[in-house]
Amino acid sequence: MSYTGPDFEPPQPRRSPLRRTLTVAVAALVPGALLGWGVYAAVGGPDDGGGDRAGAPGSSPVPSSSAPASGAPASPGGGDAKKPTGSSPAPASRKPPASGLLKGKVVVIDPGHNPGNFRHASEINRKVDVGTHRKECDTTGTATDAGWPEAKFTLDVAHRLRTLLKEQGATVELTQDGDRPFGPCVDERARIGNEAHADAAISIHADGSAAGNRGFHVIMPGRVHEGTADTRAIVAPSAELGERVAGGFVRVTGTAPSNYLGDGTGLVTRTDLGGLNLSTVPKVFVECGNMRDAKDAALLTSGSWRQKAAEGMSEGIVSFLRG
Ligand code: ZN
Repeated sequence: MSYTGPDFEPPQPRRSPLRRTLTVAVAALVPGALLGWGVYAAVGGPDDGGGDRAGAPGSSPVPSSSAPASGAPASPGGGDAKKPTGSSPAPASRKPPASGLLKGKVVVIDPGHNPGNFRHASEINRKVDVGTHRKECDTTGTATDAGWPEAKFTLDVAHRLRTLLKEQGATVELTQDGDRPFGPCVDERARIGNEAHADAAISIHADGSAAGNRGFHVIMPGRVHEGTADTRAIVAPSAELGERVAGGFVRVTGTAPSNYLGDGTGLVTRTDLGGLNLSTVPKVFVECGNMRDAKDAALLTSGSWRQKAAEGMSEGIVSFLRG
């Protein structure tokens, strides 16, 4: 999205030395996805219309600077590689059998935003210390053009993911479960993962970029050592977690990586997100798709697709935790 809120400022230009490695790593993890990408290239013409709308009280007008049209209509758009027959559920073999493989492992799931945030503008606009600077406690998040809020999407996917990880024996904690009127603030979201000594933490979001911008991306923490923020110990394991989550996501959903961020890798490194900067445990954000794009929105609003998204994340997390 062209986020102006605390969690989403325009991504900085990135020249991560890791990028090439990560690209290769993701490609290695998801060879089957490449076929799908060809399909997207064939159907992925940008849609027009829509445009950003702030959507909720307390959110700011949204500049489009963070989501430039790529100018590359042949770029892979997000999409479902499979025919939407509804009669071809994910193969049963995809779902790992229930096991105790993750027994003793702790995973913290952070459902981005909160459906009640828009009713609590003053509280969520309160500035909190995110280590490097102060920024708003939380944001309202985005919504589909039809008005379905990101916060409901994130909570639904979080529930699905929690179920899957518990089936593997993990201890799972959510930063919020629709059980508080707003928030928590981004610093508390990080703190919950830290205090749980999470082996992995994942923050679930959907983007609010321009129509035509499609696909998912995983955001990993860059190196930050300033104020109370110190990501030095989590950069490498978070990158590993991010690669595996991206790989699982592509493999299970058949959805292409973002065509507007990450140069087709589905991986983005950022140093401006309080939820990552304040983490002391391996953590990534997943932007599952663009709610402002009609084709992506059709996926994001599909329960069966959300289940696949959760399964993809679960696969990645299981893979990461098992080493
Ligand atoms: Zn979000």
